Amino acid sequence: MSRVYNFSAGPAVLPEEVLKEAADEMLDYKGCGMSVMEMSHRSKTYDSIIKEAESDLRELMNIPDNYKVLFLQGGASQQFAAIPMNLMKNGVADYIITGQWAKKAYQEACMYGKANKIASSEDQTFSYIPDCSDLPISENADYVYICENNTIYGTKYKTLPNTKGKTLVADVSSCFLSEPVDVTKYGVIYGGVQKNVGPAGVVIVIIREDLITDDVLPGTPTMLKYKTQADADSLYNTPPCYGIYICGKVFKWLKKMGGLEVMKARNEEKAKLLYDFLDQSKLFKGTVRKEDRSLMNVPFVTGSDELDAKFVKEAKAAGLESLKGHRTVGGMRASIYNAMPKEGVEKLVAFMKAFEEANI
Ligand SMILES: *Cc1c(COP(=O)(O)O)cnc(C)c1O
Repeated sequence: MSRVYNFSAGPAVLPEEVLKEAADEMLDYKGCGMSVMEMSHRSKTYDSIIKEAESDLRELMNIPDNYKVLFLQGGASQQFAAIPMNLMKNGVADYIITGQWAKKAYQEACMYGKANKIASSEDQTFSYIPDCSDLPISENADYVYICENNTIYGTKYKTLPNTKGKTLVADVSSCFLSEPVDVTKYGVIYGGVQKNVGPAGVVIVIIREDLITDDVLPGTPTMLKYKTQADADSLYNTPPCYGIYICGKVFKWLKKMGGLEVMKARNEEKAKLLYDFLDQSKLFKGTVRKEDRSLMNVPFVTGSDELDAKFVKEAKAAGLESLKGHRTVGGMRASIYNAMPKEGVEKLVAFMKAFEEANI
């Protein structure tokens, strides 16, 4: 067996320990004589898997009791619709556009009510986070929406926007559990888990209880009503059982690692290795304004499409996988999520150094 260093933006690297444990339990989960994939989601065994996953997540993120944790399907993209359907009581919401995912969420919201673009960084290819200290928040806005870490462009909010008292809704898909967050600052935090938490097929929604009501837009599907899912503790229908089980293992791994403060320090250390190299490189250049750099997704370019392609190809041959930038941006992108070990980043930087020497 040989494992590569996988820099994919998502689905992405998972902790090796978690994969090994899952492999050990594949045929016979703790003496049940069956795989977690094969058991009823109503069984006692599965009930303890999902309950334990939730309580570990609550502990990791310090989630207050007045927030519900939902494990759902449909990916982050389905939440682009679920959020306006559930939260647009006045039919108005403000969106800050910092990349493609925020833009897609905005476009979806436009189908359900009046969505306002109150700030955007599209003028400079989303290479920065706009100043959000004094935005024209709509008086009757039901919520203010952000994508907190922009997976494609490699930017991250270092301070949350001033929502002037309005409910903040955040897509944290690509920074989920990468550092501590103050849950009380948000009405809704949600993310697809396939970036930093688990396998594709699960989206986690953390939502303040007063936002969960029957007062949703007419025509909202039963499945997309947060109330349906909250009342049933994510078991209204068959949940993504196996994916939730793996997420639970990742939560245990994070606890064992020391929790989110420790992950933050580790992630900062890894990102610094790469950014410090980029800042002095004569060949490679980071594409993001320094203050807004993501700890998770690091895009960079050489300035030449041919050299970029050569780099990606030679890196792959050296066991450094999936470094090609997003198709809309080009260049390279290294996603260095929680499960990417420091050695992976060190190896990448050493490879970049050698490539630079050979190609300059
Ligand atoms: C990947 C990603 C999405 C889309 O996730 P799906 O689960 O594929 O719908 C949305 N937002 C962000 C920030 C992402 O990184």
